[in-house]
Amino acid sequence: MSNSPTFIWILSLVNLGIIGMAALFTYESIREEEPRAPKLAATATALHLLLAVFILAWPSSRVFIAWYLGIGLALQVVFLIPIKGRPARPMSASDYLYGDGSDFIPADERDTVFSRNTMRTDLKQYETYYREHPEKKACDDKRRKRGGPLGKPGSIDGRYRPNVSMLVSSIDFPVMLGDKATADPKSAAHRSHFLKKEDAEIRAKVDPAKATKIVKNWAKHLGADLVGVCKIDPRWVYSHRGRIHYNDWENWGKEIAEPLPYAVVVATEMDYDMVRSAPHTPTMVESGYNYARGAYITTILSRWFGAMGYKAVAQHSRHYEMLMVPLAIDAGLGELGRFGYLMADKFGPRVRLFAVQTDMPLVPDKPIDMGAQKFCEICVKCGESCPSKSIPLERNKKIDRGIERWTLKAETCFEYWGKIGTDCCICMAICPFSRPNRPIHRFVRFMLRRSYLARIVFPYIDNILYGRRWKPRKALDWMDYPKGRTLEEVPVFKADA
Ligand code: SF4
Ligand code: SF4
Repeated sequence: MSNSPTFIWILSLVNLGIIGMAALFTYESIREEEPRAPKLAATATALHLLLAVFILAWPSSRVFIAWYLGIGLALQVVFLIPIKGRPARPMSASDYLYGDGSDFIPADERDTVFSRNTMRTDLKQYETYYREHPEKKACDDKRRKRGGPLGKPGSIDGRYRPNVSMLVSSIDFPVMLGDKATADPKSAAHRSHFLKKEDAEIRAKVDPAKATKIVKNWAKHLGADLVGVCKIDPRWVYSHRGRIHYNDWENWGKEIAEPLPYAVVVATEMDYDMVRSAPHTPTMVESGYNYARGAYITTILSRWFGAMGYKAVAQHSRHYEMLMVPLAIDAGLGELGRFGYLMADKFGPRVRLFAVQTDMPLVPDKPIDMGAQKFCEICVKCGESCPSKSIPLERNKKIDRGIERWTLKAETCFEYWGKIGTDCCICMAICPFSRPNRPIHRFVRFMLRRSYLARIVFPYIDNILYGRRWKPRKALDWMDYPKGRTLEEVPVFKADA
């Protein structure tokens, strides 16, 4: 049989397929500037080229090669077959609640590290907050002395002015749009200047399915990379306002109103070539740019709802009233990861999240199952590489505010941001789900969505190919991050920047 031309053809074609895959993987990993994966992939390509020679020139080797290729193919098939009863039902955000959900405590925006950091010490609100939370005072006072959320922005790279200025230029954008977040045809303050009151108040009659199709495509056209719709579960709305912009301190501590019934949730992709420099300044620049994109997209969407005669409120970095991650889970954009961020479809944690709440009836999406829950149980890469040890390493989740999850220690993470002057992003950069949305990684994601076994085995394979610990890479060619102090006169951000 080993000399039959059909047998030789089949062996050669299967082997050729593997050579193609290995060569593509080599090319992709060189492009991604991975240190280890290209060497392993190139070795595999070379070995299979050698097998091609053996198949043609050494008949007695063909049976062994057939066994070897057959086992390899069978393994691939195993990773494509869904095991009975798995994957499990996709989890909505409320499925992360412990038990019957009665232990759930709503998030209060006043308790977030961002709100506490931007609290002004000369105000009565400062006294009020720390009278109720004396345990947080010493740590917060110390952290505030370092500056705003990023301390002295860009300090890890000598506050290299071109990069710090890129952040300043883009992060200004949500500030410009924050007070335009609300659209309300019935209110002169929140109505378009281009519409007459009597026209604006007439609600457009649109079929919800048609409206959903339009708004999703409009969002994508405006630059959103993922869009989904959900009904807003009021549990994901902050209980009280804590992050104050435009010096509007009277709003601090006010209860946040019941949300409108629907949300259009938007994710923008952070460029992998920028993120791979984490924790250096290109990641910070990319975060700032994405916050600008989110503010732009959601403000236009909100105003679109307004022009259609409905109420809407954009949710972006100068106007968040609710938690974006549970909303994104309910809108079918992804799952919750070990570090508490969204693991988004196609991009993993390499996204920023925004939303628009509205009373226009829309058709909600369904949650998805990407395999991240099982994968995160085994993979602890983000936790092992986190410089501030803020990410739990335990396999099992714990109960926090009535939610079953791994909980990131926000204080220590934030403290580290203050030290280095960027938003770090190492956990985002090292996560296997963050890899660029190119064919090889798309194939892996496809298998993870289908196969429970892949979710258990792939974290180990990922460690072999990519290593366990994070090492920053160079960002794009034009994007430097020189070491040491390069330009003396770098402006320091105001505290609420
Ligand atoms: S951003 Fe950095 S410090 Fe914060 S949790 Fe991620 S890796 Fe740790
Ligand atoms: S690095 Fe690993 S453990 Fe951390 S979020 Fe990503 S998949 Fe989960």
